Amino acid sequence: MTRWPAIAKDVAAFPVQPNMPDYDAARRDFSWDQAREELAGLPGGRGLNIAYEAVDRHVAEGRGGREALRFIRADGGTRSLDYGDLAEQSGRFAAVLRALGVGRGERVFSLLGRSPELYAAVLGTFKNGSVFCPLFSAFGPEPVRQRLHLGAGRALVTTRALYRKKVAPVRDSLPELRHILLADADGTPEPGTLDLAALLSRADPIGEVAGTQPEDMALLHFTSGTTGTPKGAIHVHGAVAAHYATGRFALDLHPEDVYWCTADPGWVTGMSYGIIAPLVHGVTAIVDEEELDADRWYRILADQHVTVWYTAPTALRMLMKAGAERAAGHDLSALRFIASVGEPLNPEAVVWGQEVLGLPVHDNWWQTETGGIMIANYPAMDIRPGSMGRPLPGIEAALVARDADGKAVVTDGQAVLVTEPDTMGELALRPGWPSMFRGYLNEEERYRRCFAGGWYLTGDLAKRDADGYFWFVGRGDDVIKSSGHLIGPFEVESCLMEHPAVAEAGVIGVPDPVAGEVVKAFVELKPGNQPSEALQLEIIGFTRKRLGAAVAPRLLDFTSTLPKTRSGKILRRLLKARELGLPEGDTSTLEAPAGPAPGLGKEQP
Ligand code: AMP
Repeated sequence: MTRWPAIAKDVAAFPVQPNMPDYDAARRDFSWDQAREELAGLPGGRGLNIAYEAVDRHVAEGRGGREALRFIRADGGTRSLDYGDLAEQSGRFAAVLRALGVGRGERVFSLLGRSPELYAAVLGTFKNGSVFCPLFSAFGPEPVRQRLHLGAGRALVTTRALYRKKVAPVRDSLPELRHILLADADGTPEPGTLDLAALLSRADPIGEVAGTQPEDMALLHFTSGTTGTPKGAIHVHGAVAAHYATGRFALDLHPEDVYWCTADPGWVTGMSYGIIAPLVHGVTAIVDEEELDADRWYRILADQHVTVWYTAPTALRMLMKAGAERAAGHDLSALRFIASVGEPLNPEAVVWGQEVLGLPVHDNWWQTETGGIMIANYPAMDIRPGSMGRPLPGIEAALVARDADGKAVVTDGQAVLVTEPDTMGELALRPGWPSMFRGYLNEEERYRRCFAGGWYLTGDLAKRDADGYFWFVGRGDDVIKSSGHLIGPFEVESCLMEHPAVAEAGVIGVPDPVAGEVVKAFVELKPGNQPSEALQLEIIGFTRKRLGAAVAPRLLDFTSTLPKTRSGKILRRLLKARELGLPEGDTSTLEAPAGPAPGLGKEQP
């Protein structure tokens, strides 16, 4: 499926033995019940609560003095919270919610950068039995209003500047929003808001974590989807079993790790893998308060002795664009595992990791709805560059056949599966893993449409090779139909990136009277290259040689910035809408053209 040779692993030479040395054995022996048994549960068998598993459990077992979160400030200085601090601060936050009358199941929103208050608020909300809903601090007033309204937000934690700019203008239209807590009120809250620090200092941490049950709602994650209004995906406390298992197998977390997830908690990766999974494993998690900058990132990796790094293709491509020489001189010898998620990871980036950072990048796949990693490349397993890897133990993945309208084919109540290797189908998962979403808030019908013939349909198209490795083809909506061929944009984008002048590419289909659609590429050049007709023809010729004329782009435009979401995904549907002069649809997650680096999502107000 790829022209890139597999990257073999020599497990005996690893500095730390992986948690899953044998994938097939782990798949055979694993059960979700067993994963659940490894959780502590609330004392006295009162239930299950994510915050107890992530924090209080460590304190109860004598690990309260271990460093939990290490924040890296703009000037490179650090401040840390140990597990004991985090237990206390989250307990205080829960007490503040309780005193304000914010009850079990009610929604607490955040609109905050990556500050200690955010982490205490997330965990304190769980402890109170309320539901946490993070928002990107870079959202404008309308997306903020829309989500607070859809989620019936009862309380919001934010800063003065964000409040003034994004909440005050829409507050009158949000009657259910009772309490606004300013993290930086400094004794003088804005009219109609509260001083969070003052309330926290007067509160006594709650004595007992709320007795939530595994099926109680814990998190609400808005995902914008490709069309329509944002959907609020519901996640429950029981999901923590999946955060634990995936942290163990896919990220290979060991308690002594210094782990850095570069995603902002405003999106699901930053929540599941920036907060919950690392804390459940008792590691030290790095939180960079700033945005992507190549030199800063290499400095953090080296100076903080990061051992496990979880990042995104868009960030890796930026580092690649900055040039390998930027990595030189940084001692990355502590680093032992690198993983990536959020978008297809081009083989070029996998191999670049090996050459420049000394380790290949391990792609993994999941989505807001799955709540946790579903398919991954594992430390002890050979990498096939360009593949998402194989399903987690406990996860059954398949490819469902689609009809000409793109609908899953179901006969006699059973989905028809594509079993032939290297053949495209819709990626589907057998429901039942603990972190699966339990619904879209107030949208039963939209939720129901995600299932067919016994499977959860992901909306992504993929192939599986004869050895069970999955290969991403594209979002169902992004696939291009040209002269009878189905073309996945990822394959074409990856090929474009192999050209020495290309930094990043986005590929769409545009209507053509003969072929139905033809492939059009939008290309960002590496520094030092100038757009020209000659270069345009050269790049098209380059892809033709590799992909053939039927798949290679027929049209190519140079662009200085590809439209991306705040979480770093190329918005192909927007490229297409702009190309065709169509309405742009929901652009609330679109990164501002002059905004911060994608993949992180924090904006300095
Ligand atoms: P979100 O729910 O916003 O996290 O987006 C999930 C979507 O991102 C998936 O359905 C895929 O389309 C895409 N995605 C995430 N990880 C990968 C990956 N490793 N390879 C390809 N696509 C990915």
